[in-house]
Amino acid sequence: MSSTESKADRGTVAIEADLCKGCGLCIAMCPQGLLSRADELNRRGYRFAEYLGAGCTACGICFHACPEPGGITVTRFR
Ligand code: SF4
Ligand code: SF4
Repeated sequence: MSSTESKADRGTVAIEADLCKGCGLCIAMCPQGLLSRADELNRRGYRFAEYLGAGCTACGICFHACPEPGGITVTRFR
């Protein structure tokens, strides 16, 4: 069988902006460098983390790094 590699994302990540305290752990830990701090503040006054929008491998590292319950949800596509 031919092995054409798909570049489709293996998953996606959702960050609950108002639960984020802007600690930056997920940003530092993502092996793909896909997370960054938003320019704006959330309701608690923190620059929350946000997903750049593509490239997630669904590795789950950001989920495990986040100290805020419910702050990050990782969804695996396949
Ligand atoms: S699941 Fe992995 S690749 Fe996707 S944003 Fe989190 S740390 Fe990065
Ligand atoms: S690890 Fe959690 S609390 Fe810290 S910046 Fe990332 S989403 Fe926000």
